[in-house]
Amino acid sequence: MSTLFYNGKIHTMVSELDEKSWMLVRSGKIERMGTGEPDGDLKYKEKIDLGGKHVYPCLIDAHVHMLLTIAVMAMGFSACEITSEGVRPNTIKGVGERIRSYAEKQKPGAVIALNNYILTAIDELRMPTKDELDDWAGGRAIVVYSIDGHSTSLSTKMLELVGLDPAKSNGVLQGEENERMQGQIVNKISSLISLPMLAKGIANFHNYCADYGINIVGALEGNANCDKDPITELAVKLARHFDVGVRLYLQYTDINKVRPYEKYMKKKRVGGCGEWETDGASGSHSAAFRAPYKDNGIIAGTYYTQDQFDGFVKSYADEGYQIATHAIGELAIEQVLNAYDKNENGRFFRIEHCEFHDDDAFERLAKGRYAVMMQPGYAWIDKRYLHTYEQFLNEDICARLKFKKLLDAGVCVCGSSDAPVQDMDPYLQMLGETQFYNEAESITPYQALCTYTKNAARAIEEEDEYGSLEEGKTADFFTADKDFFSLSPEQIADFRPLQTYYGGKPCKRYKGTMLELARMMLGKAKLI
Ligand SMILES: [Zn+2]
Repeated sequence: MSTLFYNGKIHTMVSELDEKSWMLVRSGKIERMGTGEPDGDLKYKEKIDLGGKHVYPCLIDAHVHMLLTIAVMAMGFSACEITSEGVRPNTIKGVGERIRSYAEKQKPGAVIALNNYILTAIDELRMPTKDELDDWAGGRAIVVYSIDGHSTSLSTKMLELVGLDPAKSNGVLQGEENERMQGQIVNKISSLISLPMLAKGIANFHNYCADYGINIVGALEGNANCDKDPITELAVKLARHFDVGVRLYLQYTDINKVRPYEKYMKKKRVGGCGEWETDGASGSHSAAFRAPYKDNGIIAGTYYTQDQFDGFVKSYADEGYQIATHAIGELAIEQVLNAYDKNENGRFFRIEHCEFHDDDAFERLAKGRYAVMMQPGYAWIDKRYLHTYEQFLNEDICARLKFKKLLDAGVCVCGSSDAPVQDMDPYLQMLGETQFYNEAESITPYQALCTYTKNAARAIEEEDEYGSLEEGKTADFFTADKDFFSLSPEQIADFRPLQTYYGGKPCKRYKGTMLELARMMLGKAKLI
């Protein structure tokens, strides 16, 4: 199979100005490319006129909790989205209309889950009540999560499912009650996931990646709290057949739990969040800082001692693994760097989030040995709608939020979504990068695209195959009618590819039927 793509503005991402006009794709790889008219001696089966459109390499989101993301995509959608106009919808009525039109298409017994309800951006400044949810969702079981994780709304049916008396509740859970009920709600919802729903979630996941130009996700999976983890086993089984490239990072600190999966891995990788969290998050006062939190005086420590954490890292480093670790406060970041520095093994280690590193950590990161996976879209939302950073953290800690400085120092900085914590939308993260929390740390659209292409390819150690469009690399790319590099941050938020190609072929669209899933599973298994 060979295709000549011609008459395009192919941004290779080798540098900002490097542009080609044609490329010859054979068996999924870019065989040749050039400028001007295609060379006369080229041999190919078909040719595709790009019609002067812009072409960019596909995007890699290297920090996603894939199975949870698929579950969310199977059961609902994001309540709010960030657009160039601000948060939409931004009224209770607007959210209600979206729920109504979604619910009408679902079976009467369906369970619906919405995340990303940006409470502080909603005019009424409140969560929906059970009566409103009952009306909009036609009596179905529905749960709505606020983006900060501190409030949840449940319909009458959902209250009953999780064992709460609807007569005693308006459906809005907050504070301690909310925290206490979370485990039960998640358990209930996951127990209701059926195979047909999974088929729908997988289809939505594939279509979403195609719509946003994503070709690879780093899948951080595994719930260490259970002895057996059948859900993760299932995720691995499924992911090996996905069109979207999946790179597995199991979140177990015990190497004996990871070994059985080694045979499925393209490269040995481990870590992420879950058991690999060295601290919590600033929004829940659990990120580990030297100084107490401004609002309540809490001092949060790291989850492990240095010795304990060194032990985890050493056990994997000795066996040649790449390691990824969640660390947000400066104490956690320091602990991770200490362990990494002691256990170099030739692999490229990752720090997930790495938000509030101090000057000492910066010096160590600037040596260029580690990849940093950030989510600037979250800080963007926080600054405008949630305001937890300014409420909980001292000014000098907020001032430490850096992006440009890291990139300028040559650190491999990547954008990622941490879905389903945030929507998987890469353009929201790139909005946050080009309009950073601390304005002076904003970067250009070209640099933002680098954080999702060549930097992200390096973070998964596959820069030889992905991350730019060059001869010999995989022909995963998307077309667009806009020049990404000249967009304003607001325009970046609204940017969407026209068509995404994997291996030079247009992405397949999925309907979400069981038959489709069965066919997918019959295809050749890939390494993940
Ligand atoms: Zn995460």
